[in-house]
Amino acid sequence: MKTSELFKRKRVLSFEIFPPKRTDPIDTIYDTVEKLKDLSPDFISVTYGAGGNESNRNTFEIASAVKNRYGVESVAHLPCINLTKEAVLDMLDNLKKAGIENMLALRGDINPDFTPKNDFKHASDLISFIKEHSDFNIIGACYPERHIECGSVIEDIRNLKTKVDAGTDHLITQLFFDNSYFYSFQERAAIAGINVPIQAGIMPVVNKKQIERMVSLCGVDLPKKFLSIMNRYENNPEAMRDAGIAYAVDQMVDLIAQGVDGIHLYTMNNPYIAFRIYEAINVLLAA
Ligand code: FAD
Repeated sequence: MKTSELFKRKRVLSFEIFPPKRTDPIDTIYDTVEKLKDLSPDFISVTYGAGGNESNRNTFEIASAVKNRYGVESVAHLPCINLTKEAVLDMLDNLKKAGIENMLALRGDINPDFTPKNDFKHASDLISFIKEHSDFNIIGACYPERHIECGSVIEDIRNLKTKVDAGTDHLITQLFFDNSYFYSFQERAAIAGINVPIQAGIMPVVNKKQIERMVSLCGVDLPKKFLSIMNRYENNPEAMRDAGIAYAVDQMVDLIAQGVDGIHLYTMNNPYIAFRIYEAINVLLAA
């Protein structure tokens, strides 16, 4: 099923997973999928490293297994910065043969170790190309606090409008820790005439190093309340995990009460955390 159809019927809950490291057998991810499946997600998306990492090869294989072996709708991520048009056509063909209908079309982060191919400059170029050559349902990324490379929120929302007009069927946000950024972003999107469903991407933070890495990569703001949690529990992993889950649940309760279209949970391949969150919000999602 195309993910954009889901929003017509319900508030959507989806999970994001990533392929295992090259040194780990691919089956490790299937143990995770097996457990996530029990939480009845509307779809599971599988990331793809833009830098040419070998584990990328597994993205489509895992997305296909999620759908065909576990019976959960799947989304394959596809960053285009290091791909040629020919390679994308080949991938579209393989994804179609695997029965995958949904793709998260991305530019990908610029990696200084790889010279970008020049076939696709922005995600919108990839999206127009996919729409021209296929009937995949296309999801796009968006940034409540603006994309880190973009000079202003206004310019970023104009670029997002271009991406949606190119054929994006629904959007998923980058993680954020202060919901007010999300609500302001929703308003800007509405003013810009962006009217596809917007799913809020939420990451439960369970260790301080992980968040420091995220912040330097994505440039998201860390509210005072969040910083106090990290500083207080950084040396107590269990307490940090519980506080991270509680913080994420608090964000989600507020988002759901405000009528968010859906929640996309960055699971970090941790079914226990997904389970705890599911338990806390499942009834609210359906209410
Ligand atoms: P774009 O939409 O191309 O935007 C990138 C920048 O260019 C922005 O600053 C934007 O304002 C600007 N821009 C866009 N269009 C134009 C235009 N027409 N003219 C001028 N400027 C323009 N990365 C991966 O490598 N693999 C993944 O699996 C992955 N999954 C992700 C999932 C989600 C939900 C999100 C939010 C991000 C994910 N990323 C992933 C990260 C993403 O690749 C990076 O954030 C990347 O830097 C931007 O990708 P994009 O598709 O948003 O790019």
